[in-house]
Amino acid sequence: MSESVEPLPSVDPEGKPYRIQLDDGVLAQQLDPLAFQVLRHAGTERAFTGEYTDEDTVGVYRCRACDAELFRSEEKFHSGCGWPSFYAPQSGDAVVLLEDRSLFPRVRTEVRCGSCGSHLGHVFEGEGYDVPTDQRWCINSVALRLEPKS
Ligand SMILES: [Zn+2]
Repeated sequence: MSESVEPLPSVDPEGKPYRIQLDDGVLAQQLDPLAFQVLRHAGTERAFTGEYTDEDTVGVYRCRACDAELFRSEEKFHSGCGWPSFYAPQSGDAVVLLEDRSLFPRVRTEVRCGSCGSHLGHVFEGEGYDVPTDQRWCINSVALRLEPKS
């Protein structure tokens, strides 16, 4: 678990301000404590506890902090890892990637929302899952909100 007490940056890795600037004080009132911890302090929900881990409903997964569209059910797959897993984001600019050395020497790739910069999870590659990209976007359920297709 990588947790930091510092507020997340308001600019992306290239130094551009995020399109949506969040107020952590307001968000802390709106989100339940676990969601706030995961999204704004890069926390991790416990494996196999998230509401979307085995979710099969057709729809769009939005950022729980800013409501941007992030992932679709079409790219969701059952990895067995204990968190919702996708093989691709909805689009390349829906997310930003950062090098995460919090478990050094293990270096992971952190996934943040491309619109507001909130922490979502990590992406892993080359694990041998039978998916088109050979990637596992391992995303916390509490960072997402499923909007079922009507
Ligand atoms: Zn967001």
